[in-house]
Amino acid sequence: MVYFVGAGPGAVDLITVRGAELLKKADVIIYAGSLVNPELLSYAKKECVIYNSATMTLEEVINVMEESDKNNKMVVRLHTGDMSIYGAVREQSDILKSKNIPFESVPGVSSFLGAAASLNAEYTLPAVSQTVILTRMAGRTPVPEKEDIKLLASHNASMVIFLSSSMLGKLADELTAGGYSKDTPCAIVYKATWEDELKVVTTIENLEKAGRENNISKTALVLAGDFLGDIYDRSKLYDGTFSHEFRKGTNG
Ligand code: SAH
Repeated sequence: MVYFVGAGPGAVDLITVRGAELLKKADVIIYAGSLVNPELLSYAKKECVIYNSATMTLEEVINVMEESDKNNKMVVRLHTGDMSIYGAVREQSDILKSKNIPFESVPGVSSFLGAAASLNAEYTLPAVSQTVILTRMAGRTPVPEKEDIKLLASHNASMVIFLSSSMLGKLADELTAGGYSKDTPCAIVYKATWEDELKVVTTIENLEKAGRENNISKTALVLAGDFLGDIYDRSKLYDGTFSHEFRKGTNG
């Protein structure tokens, strides 16, 4: 059996209980060494065999899974954050399926949630935005044209931009070209929830400068939108005059 497990954004205690239990039981762990906190490996039992996938190809990863499965060994494939976001997990599970190797996925706390928590921010503020866009700038992996940052920015929704902290100038240009004003608040969160986390709140206009001054060019998220500002409506859910399924409001 192969378990795809989300390791969480960084802090060791932000893996799920289920994920930690599987790490304790695993005979083999293949972890994404570039971003998974190696302290998580201390959950592993003594005889567990550990591989760092940072230096492996897809075929090599699959070979380890296949050999382990043949020998009735339980494998945990440990992905950073949650594997459903830029996790390259589908290509693995499809091959496992074709080889009749059973697998299951256990979610993790994605870094975009870790970053919001670090800022005590809410992406979905009433009267500001009710939508979160998770995206990236095109790099060596292309992004479909229709998902150009400019087009996505035209919604003025809450945006989280992954894998783009080495292109902050270009990112800021795209965000403003798409319709965000230059003074829209944005944040760079480097290594959210790790001990050396760094967070900078700035404006789109000053995004590149903020990145440069803080030496951030990787392992960071950019959050952009008025949800980082101070103007919003309070929720209806907790409004005393508003009735709903569980509570009668003062206005009936
Ligand atoms: N599956 C992961 C994302 C993997 S892509 C998740 O759910 O978070 C790798 C990119 O994610 C990095 O380049 C960076 O943009 C972001 N990232 C991952 N962990 C991060 C963290 N702790 N803090 C900030 N950004 C992080």
